[in-house]
Order: sequence, then structure tokens, then C-alpha cells
Amino acid sequence: MARRAAAQLPFSGGPGPGFGEVVDICRDLIRIDSSNYGDSSGPGERAAAEYVATKLSEVGIGSTLLEPEPRRTNLVARVPGRSGPALLVHGHLDVVPADPALWAVHPFAGEIIDGFLWGRGSIDMKHMVAMILTATREMRRRGVQPQRELVLAFLADEENAFTLGSRWLVNNHRELIDDCTEAISEVGGFSVQIRPDQRIYLLESGRKGVAWLRLTAHGTAGHASITSPRNSIGVLSAAVARIAEHQWPLRLTTVSGQMTRTLAELGAPSVLGDPEALQNTVLAPVAGMLTSSLRHVANPTVLKAGHSLNVVPDSAEAYVDGRFVPGYQEEFLDELSFIIGPDVSIDVIDLTEADQADPDASLVSRMQTALAAEDPGCKVLPYTSSASTDNASFAGIGIQGYGFAPLKLPPEYSFSSMFHGTDERVPVEALIFGARVLYRLLTGEDPHSSRAGS
Ligand SMILES: [Zn+2]
Repeated sequence: MARRAAAQLPFSGGPGPGFGEVVDICRDLIRIDSSNYGDSSGPGERAAAEYVATKLSEVGIGSTLLEPEPRRTNLVARVPGRSGPALLVHGHLDVVPADPALWAVHPFAGEIIDGFLWGRGSIDMKHMVAMILTATREMRRRGVQPQRELVLAFLADEENAFTLGSRWLVNNHRELIDDCTEAISEVGGFSVQIRPDQRIYLLESGRKGVAWLRLTAHGTAGHASITSPRNSIGVLSAAVARIAEHQWPLRLTTVSGQMTRTLAELGAPSVLGDPEALQNTVLAPVAGMLTSSLRHVANPTVLKAGHSLNVVPDSAEAYVDGRFVPGYQEEFLDELSFIIGPDVSIDVIDLTEADQADPDASLVSRMQTALAAEDPGCKVLPYTSSASTDNASFAGIGIQGYGFAPLKLPPEYSFSSMFHGTDERVPVEALIFGARVLYRLLTGEDPHSSRAGS
């Protein structure tokens, strides 16, 4: 149901706080607790969405708020551009829960300490929401139109398989985004310093597919003192062990091919010969992210069986989290089914298809240009994420998605440990950098020009 739809409002432009406001906006968003507990018991995204609507309306941009359930709010807005096709720029408003007892500072206080803004969502992904808002507001204040028509989407429920967010939007309000051909959102865009004079920026250009499976073995129930003709736990455990031990072969895609070529140019050891060798290089902090895209992964994660020590249960269940390389879904499911064998049944609980975006698209070269203008000499490294994001939902209707939330990070900062981690924090300077890069990418204009507000 749509709660509100507002038309484009008049706005006269004029100077404003400039790109520095990205810090205040991110801080405000962190202070709005939008924890997602995997059901609708949390506060929901409505307060965050209303905050975003206000920030857009202040610069004359109307928003449509859509709620599949009360308080589970998505927001879509449109900014006219100089040409088409439209570009979808999106971020999710929900965050994973945070236990204040485990944090050095309160996760929803939005404190700034020693140049870092702390808080849940500062990396996943209220930082990007703040950057999108800042870049858009700055365009309006300077009277600059984006190069392409922009569709801005701020989404609910990303942290729970996109159910009430991007998936729901695609299935129920496709007309709001149907003219978009490409999308920008999390998780890439962040820097890794590989030499004192060289940074690379990882560009998420594809996502592995996700197959969540339930395995069930049935057997003969009975007293545990008697030989069991078919023990369900035994049958299931053997299958689970085979999955855990399986060595999946390397599978290359357009994106990982481009990634390996760029790594070779940078002098990294060949990931094809020995993917693990990357762990011993300056790329160690992201080696797992890069190499896990090269092969399927299947991990048993939950076991459920039995209730009494002296009773053989009639069934046993296991859950498996499978991640498959784009283009190889059928191969993955067939091979997994072969490994599991005929004695255990398989139910697909949830399946998100893998997707890939063109690593050679003109949008990618514009990202490279925008980054290089702010960080001369840097290089873009495309990769396939082993996790899924809202971009996967949009890929289902043909929108090619890139993870590009630009952040220039200090070398000692561990980006990957921030996701869903305790003490999540973002460097304040990186936020301002990101807002500038995004502005340059979306407008083609220099954020430092005299028309600048900062
Ligand atoms: Zn996220």
C-alpha cells in the first residue's frame, strides 16, 4: 500500500552546507534504530524513510512511501536527468541488531571519536544512504541536473532476504523502476591500499546465487538398545560430512576473468593456480572476498535430530547454505544432489539467482574516472560478491547492479570485519570522499568547482 505520493516540488537552489552534511545525515540515520530481527517485531524502517523523505523534500524532491506491512517502509523518488536510460541508486534502511553490551560505544548513539563515526549501519549501509542524499541535495542546491534520470530507492528488509523490500518492490511496484537499466548500491567501492602509492577500489560487479536447503533423512524409530536397521542420524551425518569435505572446482565468469587480469597487472600471484596464495600478499584483508567468488561454496550450518538419549529418531534434518557462481546454478544443484545421495531428501527453502553486471560498461569507466579525480592513480578491481544484496532482486528484472559505495579508507582499517560486526564505524573523511565521488559520477561535474557549497 502506498502511504503517500508527492509530486515534484518547486525548489530554487542556493548554497548549503556542502558535502560535509553527509556526516550529519549518516549520524542522524544511525540514531534512528531500524533493527531488523528477521520478522516484524523490530521498529521497522518508517522513521528512517520519513527522515529521508524530509531531506529530499527540503530540496524539492517528492517521495513515494510504500509499506507492504505497517512500519516496513520503502521510499522511491525520481530526479529528472539530462538523458536516459534511468539509473537506479539505492540503499537499504534496515540494519542488523546490535547488542550495546558488546560495543565500546552505544551502537545507536552516532558518536564521532578520533575521526570515525561509530554506530550500527555506519558501513551497512546508512553511509551510502547518506552519500546518496548528500550528492542529490548538492545537485539541487547547485542547480545541476544528473547526467541520467535517477530513480532513488531506499529499501526495507534487506537483512531478511529482501522480502518486504526490493523483492516486494519488484513484484508489486515494478512500474516505479522499470525504466532503469543499471543500479548502484553496496557493497563495493571501498579502497584497499596495496602499496604506499597505490590504492585499488573493489567494484562489486556480480553476486553469487544463494541456495538455502533443508536436508531430511528418514529412518526407523525405535529403542536405542536394539540394532537400528536405518538410523536417520547416521544417514544424514554421512551426507553432511560429504558436503563439508567436498572440493569444488574453479569456475570462471566474465567478472572473475576481468578480476584475475587486473590482479595480474597489479603483480599479484595467479589466483587461478593457487587461490590461497593471495592470503600471503598485501591483498590478504580481501583475499577471502575475492577468491570465494571463484568456486561454489556449500556449508552445513544447522543440525536438528533426536530428543532422548535412548530413542532412535525417525528423522533428522540439516540445513545447508549454498552459494553458487553466476551461470552455474544447475551444475551446482546437480552436483550437490549427487553428493547428498538418494537417501536424503532435499527441499529448497530459498533460492536467489546469481547475477552479473558488465565489467566493461561505460558506467564502470565513469566510476573509474570519478574515483581517479579524487584519488589519482587508483585502479578499479571488479569482483563477484559471495553474498547477495538488493541488486540481486533488481537483476531479476534485467537491471545490472554494481556495488559502488565509494570509500577511501586508511590502510589499517578492516572493512570486511565491519559488516554486522561490533564497533562498526566509518572514517568521517571517507564519507565526505564518497559523497564527492558519487556526485561526480552522477553529474559529471567537479564537486570542488566554484559553484561548490563547501
Ligand atoms: Zn547491507
